[in-house]
Amino acid sequence: MEKLCNLNHLLLLFSLLVFPVLINSKTTPTQDEQQSEIITRFQEYLRINTAQPFPDYEKSTQFILTQANSLSLESQVIEFVKAKPLVILKWPGSDPSLPSILLNSHTDVVPSEHSKWVHPPLGAHIDEQGNIFARGSQDMKCVGMQYLEAIRKLKSSGFHPKRSLYLSFVPDEEIGGHDGVEKLAHSDVFKSMNVDIVVDEGLASPNENYRLFYAERTTWWLVIKSTGAPGHGAKLYDNSALENLFTSIEIIRRFRASQFDLVKAGLKGEGDVISVNMVSLKAGTPSPTGFVMNLQPSEAEAGFDIRVPPTANAESLEKRIAEEWAPASRNMSFEVEQFKEKGTNVDYLGRPLITATDSSNPWWTLLEEAIKKANGKVGKPEIFPASTDVYYFRQVGLPAIGFSPMANTPILLHDHNEFLNQAEYLKGIDVYMSIIKAYTSYIPPGRENLQRDEL
Ligand SMILES: [Zn+2]
Repeated sequence: MEKLCNLNHLLLLFSLLVFPVLINSKTTPTQDEQQSEIITRFQEYLRINTAQPFPDYEKSTQFILTQANSLSLESQVIEFVKAKPLVILKWPGSDPSLPSILLNSHTDVVPSEHSKWVHPPLGAHIDEQGNIFARGSQDMKCVGMQYLEAIRKLKSSGFHPKRSLYLSFVPDEEIGGHDGVEKLAHSDVFKSMNVDIVVDEGLASPNENYRLFYAERTTWWLVIKSTGAPGHGAKLYDNSALENLFTSIEIIRRFRASQFDLVKAGLKGEGDVISVNMVSLKAGTPSPTGFVMNLQPSEAEAGFDIRVPPTANAESLEKRIAEEWAPASRNMSFEVEQFKEKGTNVDYLGRPLITATDSSNPWWTLLEEAIKKANGKVGKPEIFPASTDVYYFRQVGLPAIGFSPMANTPILLHDHNEFLNQAEYLKGIDVYMSIIKAYTSYIPPGRENLQRDEL
C-alpha cells in the first residue's frame, strides 16, 4: 500500500510537472516553428496567381481576409470598379482623434516567362541558400505580408497603437492603378480614414543600405512623326521623312547620353535624371513580302518612354522637344496632345510631388530612426526611377515614403528568377515592427501639451 501510494504520488507529480510542459510546447511554438510558419504564409500568398492581365483577386482577397481575421483586424472590401477589390484593414488606435497611418501594398504582379525561370514563378521554392523564388517575392507581396506579420508580432507582445493603423491591399498597380489607388485617393472612404502619412513600395538594394524614396519620376510617352517627299530608293536628297527622323533620333540620343553619363559618373542617382528610351519605330511601305525596298517613304515615326523627375524643369523639356527633337522646320510634328501619357509633377495645389526629407517632415526622421533601431542601415534619400501608386497619394497632398526592406538583394522586380532571401524577409518584419511602433505612437509636439492639459 505504501509503495502503491508512493507510485501514485510519483504519477501525480509526473503529471503535474511534465504535462504542462508537454501542453505548453504544443501551444507556444518555438522561434524556429514561428519562423517557418511565417515563411509558409508568405509562400501561400506568393502561390496565388495575381499576375496581370488576369489576376485572381478573389483568391488574394480571401487570403488577406483570413489573415486579418486571425489578427482580429477590422476589414472592408471596396470595389470602385467591379472585380477590382481593395482590401482595407484597420488596427484601431487608442486615440481616434489622432490622424492615421497607412501602409499600402499592391496585390497584382507582372506576368512571367515561365520557361526562363530556374524555379517556377508560382512555386515559391526555397533553395539551399534560403532564397524564395516567386513572382512578387520582391514586388511586392513581401511587403504586404511583412506588414501583417509585424502586426502579429506586435499584438502578441502586447503593444497597443495610439494612432489607427490601416493596411491597404490594392489591385492593378502594375497597369497604372487607375481602378485601385487612383480611385481610393479621391474617395470618401479615404477621407474618412484621415491619413497623415503613407508608406508604400521601394526597391531592393544590392548593398547593405535600405533605400528610401521621397519622390518619383513621372512618365511621358512621346511619339514624334516626320514627313518628307517620297523618292526613289537610289536617290540622295535632303528632307526625306526617315532622314528627318534620324536627325531627331541622333539629337535625342545625345541628350540621353548626357543624362546617363551623370549616373555613370556617380554624380546623380538613377531617379535624378531625365531618362529617354526609344521604344518604337514605324516606317516603310509594306509589300506582300515585307517592305518596298526601292522607295523612300513619306512618313515615319518613333516613340519614346521619357521619365521626368519632379526636380526637372518640365517646361524647358517641352521646349527642347518642340525646338530640337521635333522642330517644324525639319518637317516634324509634335504637339503636347500627342503625348500618349504625360504625368504631372505637381500636386492638386501646384506643389512639386516631393515628400520632404528634412526636419520639416517628422515622418521621415521617425522612419529613419525606426529602421536604425531595428539594426537596419539607410542610404541617401532617392527619387524612384519609375512610377508607383504612391503618385496618387502625393497628388492629394500627402507625404508618402517608398520603402521595401530588402538590403543585400539584387534588384529583380519584373525580371526572371525574382527572389528574396528568407532571412532578409524575416529581418524586414522586425523593421516594420519598429516603424509601426514609432509611427502609431507619434504625437506632434503641440498635441502633446494639449493631451497633458486634457489630463
Ligand atoms: Zn510594385
